[in-house]
Amino acid sequence: MYFEIMANDRIYLSPPHLDGNERKYLLEALESNWIAPTGPFVVRLEQALREHSGLPEAIAVNSGTSAIHLALRVLAVGPGDEVICSTFTFIASAAPVTYLGATPVFVDCEMQTWNMDPAHLEQAIQSRRAAGANVKAVIFAYCYGMPGRMTEIIEVCRRHGLPLVEDAAEALGSTYQGKPAGTLGDIGIFSFNGNKIVTGSVGGAIVCRDATLAARMRKLASQAKENTPHFEHHEIGYNYGMSNLVAAVVLGQLECLEQKVNNRREVFEGYVAQLEKIPSVTWQVEPDGSRANRWLSAFHFGTNPELRASALIAKLAAGNMESRPLWKPLHTQIAFGPEALHFGGECAESLFANGVCLPSLHAVPNIGSMH
Ligand SMILES: *Cc1c(COP(=O)(O)O)cnc(C)c1O
Repeated sequence: MYFEIMANDRIYLSPPHLDGNERKYLLEALESNWIAPTGPFVVRLEQALREHSGLPEAIAVNSGTSAIHLALRVLAVGPGDEVICSTFTFIASAAPVTYLGATPVFVDCEMQTWNMDPAHLEQAIQSRRAAGANVKAVIFAYCYGMPGRMTEIIEVCRRHGLPLVEDAAEALGSTYQGKPAGTLGDIGIFSFNGNKIVTGSVGGAIVCRDATLAARMRKLASQAKENTPHFEHHEIGYNYGMSNLVAAVVLGQLECLEQKVNNRREVFEGYVAQLEKIPSVTWQVEPDGSRANRWLSAFHFGTNPELRASALIAKLAAGNMESRPLWKPLHTQIAFGPEALHFGGECAESLFANGVCLPSLHAVPNIGSMH
């Protein structure tokens, strides 16, 4: 048997880590009686996000899922349209496509970064357009925070005139050729959900260059209220604004992003040092010129029959430690129907078949010890 593990207190996969000004800011918000609506911390958070991203527009919202929904809505995705999505990711990346009455078209990953394969993206666009489909946008999800082959992905999108939404929900703090994840395409989104690298317990954000799109998303996020003293509405919006309390916590967290990334990278490197000698173990490899935040430390055990992810997960659970299988590919999720559209091979399926996400904030010792 591989894997000997001991632990006392439960170790979680990716728990919140409050080590900055969160408490101070939260108390400030409470003491000022400004807990809603929106408020000064929302304004400060949006400013901090503009600084982080280097983009002129940032909108704080109540979740990453809402952020994707708003992005697709202003890209005019509607009933009958199709949107190309990553298959090897969390369901929230593609679910908003269906909220708008459109259909997700799933694209397989490649084995270096576990992200959408640009060649399969090309094939999906060509094939769906040849079939007469109205393909409207591409949502690229950064898998466990890892950048993909972004130059090629962007080139394919540009050539086909398709807007690129970067689902950087997991990738806050990652960079590609010096640029932050979420700033390479047309609209970038982040999540501050409880398990993300920066969290406000909930929350999300949108960044972009286009002031017109940003203004529309901001308006739609607050019930599409017109700029009048009375309640005037010319279209249907959503209740997607961020609370000032949440913004206070997120801002405190965001100030510590660099430390958080360094910490997660160290945890990941520790696992690599333990696992790299074991045959058939692989992991996400950074594309040239990129730096991943290593939100989750993830490993694939390949087809080594002695090395089962399920056995390791059970063993960790017995030691009071949380771990999880890798993503179940979205095109195989019943939620998207029995015949979800899918392009590519079986990379995502093979990763799901025998892979694991390990506790990524605190390292588990002895994970690779044998017998
Ligand atoms: C977490 C996550 C989301 C959704 O974010 P929420 O804030 O939980 O709504 C979307 N896409 C991916 C890839 C995620 O991991």
